[in-house]
Amino acid sequence: PRIEEKLYQNRYLVDAGRPHVKIKNQGEPTPELKTLVNVCPAGCYAITEQGKVEVVPDGCMECGTCRVLTAETGDLEWNYPRGGYGVAFKFG
Ligand code: SF4
Repeated sequence: PRIEEKLYQNRYLVDAGRPHVKIKNQGEPTPELKTLVNVCPAGCYAITEQGKVEVVPDGCMECGTCRVLTAETGDLEWNYPRGGYGVAFKFG
């Protein structure tokens, strides 16, 4: 099956009002920050009409890609979701 069908089997519990990934950089987005729009496997990042980057971490798979790519820039505040929230992977 296609990867999207596999991913669909994962369950995700949104911790409403407490996003675990936030964008700290409110100024001009760094190239690293813009890259996340294309590399996040869950499609959590988008470019706004104002040219800013926004994140909606619902569906985040906690792969850590965005965290690693912005480790030097400090663009993000990244925490694991609280216990019980976030992604629940289904294997097999
Ligand atoms: Fe996307 Fe991975 Fe970052 Fe979650 S941890 S927002 S899935 S790049």
